[in-house]
Amino acid sequence: MGRKEEKEDIKKALKEIMESFNDLIDENRDLRKENKALKSKHYKDRELARLSAELNASDRMIAKGFPISDEENRAIDEWVDEHINAHGGRTRTKIGCSCLFHYEFSPSQLGTFGTIICDMHGDKFQFQSP
Ligand SMILES: [Zn+2]
Repeated sequence: MGRKEEKEDIKKALKEIMESFNDLIDENRDLRKENKALKSKHYKDRELARLSAELNASDRMIAKGFPISDEENRAIDEWVDEHINAHGGRTRTKIGCSCLFHYEFSPSQLGTFGTIICDMHGDKFQFQSP
């Protein structure tokens, strides 16, 4: 192989390397774009979930008059159901007992304790503790 051909081969090899390199740069840029879009979609989903939870909390606050978490709300519903079932139960149209519930909040140095109480039977359930 002569010097001229050798030079041509090297030039050709370099050109191929440069082309691969440019392809990689393009690919990398596309992946970055895609990644950014995915992140922003994920962010939007998370933001929507957060807003929806906030909205639920705010609905409950309006309905009950105090702030309460999803978990606390579920615990209260469960306890109330159990309590009513233990005292006559309920049908679709009426409750078989005359239970009346009220909430009590006791502030302490640690935070607030929240309790639901049946005025009729005196049963209590603490659904919130600091
Ligand atoms: Zn009761």
